[in-house]
Parts: sequence; structure tokens; C-alpha cells
Amino acid sequence: MVNQWIQQAAERRASDIHLEPTEDDRLRVRMRVDGDLRAVETVADGRKVMARLKVMAGLDVNERGMPLDGRVRVQTSSRGPIDLRMSTTPCLGGEKAVLRLIDNSRLGKTLEELGYTKRMLAAYKPIVELPYGLLLHVGPTGSGKTTSLYAVLTTVNKPEKNIQTVEDPVEYDIPGVTQTQVNHDQGLTFPKVLRALLRQDPNVILIGEIRDDATAEIALEASMTGHLVLSTLHANEAVGAVVRLLDMGMTPYSIAYSLRSVIAQRFVKKLCTSCRKQVPQTDEMVRLTGSDRPVFEAEGCKDCNRSGFDGRQPLYEFLPMTAGMKKAIYQDTTPDHLQAVALKSGMISMFADGMEKAFAGVTTVEEVLRATKGVKASAGPAAPAGPPRPRLAGPARPGAPNGAGTRPAVRPATARPAGAPRPPRPPAR
Ligand SMILES: [Zn+2]
Repeated sequence: MVNQWIQQAAERRASDIHLEPTEDDRLRVRMRVDGDLRAVETVADGRKVMARLKVMAGLDVNERGMPLDGRVRVQTSSRGPIDLRMSTTPCLGGEKAVLRLIDNSRLGKTLEELGYTKRMLAAYKPIVELPYGLLLHVGPTGSGKTTSLYAVLTTVNKPEKNIQTVEDPVEYDIPGVTQTQVNHDQGLTFPKVLRALLRQDPNVILIGEIRDDATAEIALEASMTGHLVLSTLHANEAVGAVVRLLDMGMTPYSIAYSLRSVIAQRFVKKLCTSCRKQVPQTDEMVRLTGSDRPVFEAEGCKDCNRSGFDGRQPLYEFLPMTAGMKKAIYQDTTPDHLQAVALKSGMISMFADGMEKAFAGVTTVEEVLRATKGVKASAGPAAPAGPPRPRLAGPARPGAPNGAGTRPAVRPATARPAGAPRPPRPPAR
């Protein structure tokens, strides 16, 4: 039964299998396909099924009171060997397990194959080829930002370069790259690994995610001292990355000096290419999209299980750090101001990227509007404003009486690696 679910998940290109206890030791099974959870079945003997899963993933069958984490490689008929990452959490009625299917077919994909438009690549590729600087990819969990990051890494992966990564966890094995997994239980944290690998003469450093001040500080310093640093950050839109770095105590100077670009991303459903067809926009759509070009829709066919959609692809927002943006970081870092400057100084908004894809038949206008809802209003539809954000400019900053330019008084202890040069500091302003 467990094997069948995995085979089925592989065939349907599911990203996750969810198993959760219901009443009477039964287990509800669902799969996430194209971003939505779909019911599969509810089965008896939940504990036995859970035990079987734990044995497969090399976990302790008798441990039911603590969260566990394991992985297993399974041979599938449709897609060959696939890796599964399994996590369990104790809950009412037993344990919930989620099996994530690690899609190795995403590995080695180029940025073109991931849906980056020609226009965006023309702007992004020269930045990727710079020898140093910080490139950030942001988005919600499961938005494919790690896949994007690996695609960037693939383009710079050459024998003459030393590429090292620190990840949590290492999901894909990339030939030619030294990958290190953090281990919190053993104190092997992001900052600790980073300080060590900076002593190993790296050209390119990939940091799985910037989660804390210490990691952010090392990332910025490394990118200012001759390394290309690639990383992800939790932010909903591209300018949110700048706000987040300031919030972590980074100075406007170090951000302006090191950050080269931010790409935000979010998935939309892809139209089925067998049954999509071009249609004129309704008046309401024209009002929302600001264009009367024809778009696409699909009614469903046997190729797409009557859904009209087949797979997913991200929309991207590309923010280059222009002179205008750098200036804005010193002056007024309220998200609204940064967003306005970003749009004025050449940012390709997620909405603009989405509409380009809607006109090309990749997705529908509805999907673009759904995915960009909550993203800050840009050229196009009147998107509802997001939740209020803390104002970061000016004297409101703790420990920074003169506003931007000074560090908060209290900093976590971040010992500098021996011999690592301190980057130049900004003159007092
Ligand atoms: Zn179809």
C-alpha cells in the first residue's frame, strides 16, 4: 500500500504525500499536485502504516512522542529512483507524516527552462557573471526559490571556480560543488560553517537561507570581500528583502555596497498546451490588466484530467540594485517608498512578468491576479495593500540615534574568522 502511494505520487508529479490520523486508528492520505492537496483514500491500521514508513526512512519505530526526520530513496516505475524526505510530528490521535518528493529532474535546469523571460535574463545574466556581490532569491516556502538558486549555481559552475554551499538540508547533490549540511544538534550552524568555508578560498558561496543576523552579516561581508554569494530570504516581494536585511541590523551602506539584485517568485498553474485557446479579454479583465491584448484559457481535456492546467511555473519579480535604489536605501526605507523607487528604476514587477506569461499562453489572467494579490501594487491592477509593515527609516531604530548608518547597540557575538579582512566602513555621516 505504501509503495503504491509512492508510485502514484511519482506518476502524478505530486510534491508531497500527507498522512494524518483520523478516528479509530485510521489514516487519511492526501497528495499535493500542482500546489493543491488532493484526497487519495483513508485506510485502516494507521499505526502499522506509520511503522512501515518509519522503517523505510530509517527512523525509530518506537519513538512516537517526538518529531522525527529521515530520508529514503525509492525506485519508481515512472521516474526511476526518487528521494523522499519524511518528517513526523506527534499530534492528537497519533502522528502525522509528510513525505516530500525531492524532484531531481529540477536539478540542472537552466534559468530559461524555469520560465525566466528573455527580458529578465538579459538583465540578470550580466549580474550573475560578476565575480562578487550578493544575489538574493525570495518568496514564500515552496515557491521554488531554491530551484532558482541551483540554476544560477549551474550557470557559474566551472572547473576553475571553488564553489561551496551551506544548506539545511542538502536536497540535491551537485557535481563539482562542495556541499555542507548544518547540524543544529551538534552546533554546526550556518555562521559556523560559513566562517570555516571562508578560510577555504571560495569563489562562490551558496547559503541555503539567511535566517539570522549573524548569517546576514557574514553573507554581506563575504560579498564585499570578493566572493559571489547566492542565498534566499523570507520576503514576499523583492523590496521586502532590503527591508528584512535592515531589520536584521545590516547597515544601509553594507546593503547598498553588496546587494546586486533580488528576485522574488511565486507559482502559478500552467495552462494545458493541448486544450488552451486564445480568447479576447472581458471588459472587467481589461480594466484589471490595463491591456486589451487577447489572453488564453483552457476548458480541459484528457491530457490534463479535465482541469485545463498541467504543472506549475513561477512568476518572477526582478529588482536590480540601481543607483536610484542605493540612494533610496540611505534616505527612506519605508516599503512603499522603496517599491515606488524600484518601479521607477527598472524593476520588472511580478505582475508585469505574469501578464507577459498570460499573453504568451503560459497561464491565465486569473492565475496572475491570484498570485500577485497581496504583492505591493505595481503598474497594473489595484492590488490590495499588504499588512502594515514596521517603519524602518529614521530614529525609530533601537540603538541608532541618528537613524540609518549605525548598528544596533546589542549585537549577537559573531567572532570574525582569523585573518578575514574587515570590509571598509562608511564614513561617519
Ligand atoms: Zn487539456
